[in-house]
Amino acid sequence: MNYDEFFRAELQSLADEGNYRHFAELERRQGDFPRARHHRPDGTKEVTVWCSNDYLGMGQHPAVLSAMHEAIDRCGAGAGGTRNISGTTHDHVMLEQELADLHHKPAALLFTSGYVSNWAAITTLASRLPGCVVLSDAGNHASMIEGIRHSRAEKIIFKHNDPQDLERCLAQIDPKRPKIVAFESVYSMDGDIAPIAKICDVAEKYGAMTYLDEVHAVGLYGLRGGGIAEREGLMDRITLIEGTLGKAFGVVGGYIAASTELCDFVRSFASGFIFTTALPPACAAAARASIQHLKQSNSERERHQNRVAAVRRQLDIMGVPHLKNDSHIVPVMVGNPVKCKMISDRLLQDYGIYVQPINYPTVPKGTERLRITPSPVHSDEDIRYLMESLGAIWSECALARGVAAA
Ligand code: PMP
Repeated sequence: MNYDEFFRAELQSLADEGNYRHFAELERRQGDFPRARHHRPDGTKEVTVWCSNDYLGMGQHPAVLSAMHEAIDRCGAGAGGTRNISGTTHDHVMLEQELADLHHKPAALLFTSGYVSNWAAITTLASRLPGCVVLSDAGNHASMIEGIRHSRAEKIIFKHNDPQDLERCLAQIDPKRPKIVAFESVYSMDGDIAPIAKICDVAEKYGAMTYLDEVHAVGLYGLRGGGIAEREGLMDRITLIEGTLGKAFGVVGGYIAASTELCDFVRSFASGFIFTTALPPACAAAARASIQHLKQSNSERERHQNRVAAVRRQLDIMGVPHLKNDSHIVPVMVGNPVKCKMISDRLLQDYGIYVQPINYPTVPKGTERLRITPSPVHSDEDIRYLMESLGAIWSECALARGVAAA
């Protein structure tokens, strides 16, 4: 077999569908977010980023940067080993304590990314609880889906954000079997929010554990940035909260927060925890500074919500279709991969605005979109210019206007 020929043909069919993924090569500059330099074959161009998951701009916050600099000066670059073999530093331990406190849990456990934390924790729990059944929301992220698959546990998918369907599924399972209800608080592509209290009611009734991914909510919701479960006073009812340090906290890494026994169990059995180099201590120190800042400061969250509301208002006025939701994620619906990429390319090339097109398989075919993520560092002028540019492309290309198709 000519392997490269095979790879090339597969990639070509992706490209033919409009689903080949192109990177936009950016140079982020300290203190200048949301501005960045975009590298192109013909040189560089200044752009404004409208699709970053550094939701609050904490990746540029002076407190975060100085904690990272300080830790590099103190510890050097890498952790030097896995957590078990020389890679556990004081910074890792302090960060785990900070995270446990953030979520009002006795313990927390760090991973190298949010993806790994989901994959490793779900794999471990679902494969080692004897006869475990995982009830998985239909909209769950790939990292949870892969974890369930790898565990080989029985999986039942319940309808997205539907506690009644969850109850229908739970009622069919032998009450003696261990059960995990896995779901997210804010869904990353539609930006809709789970009915957490109702899901907890059902899970508790059937004796199931609750596994909540708050990746798109930590730092952003709740009085101390503990996520939707904090905002709704539900942290104590969730068995395990999973989060990332790479989005609102602006650094990198993932974690779970739960009981001491559960964290120790995952720590002891999860290959995705045991057999990989620990996060650099400087990342742990930076993430801790970010969490500490957002625990006591609401101003970033308030301004964030204000910017999101302003963007939505303008889209409504212009009749550019976008999904309604109660979160900070603004999906502008295009519904066609080629058009979606074309709009994104035009924004970048003609207007210096960067919004990555989101196509299949990240979202279902026919729901291709531009996922706009306003942040506190976008100015009124940035919003005005985004709207003017989008409006011009919408008119030139005679794209549909009106209320969003769901
Ligand atoms: N969970 C969800 C819902 C996500 O959207 C993502 C990443 N986009 C992750 C987990 C993985 O987090 P990380 O980027 O830290 O690996």
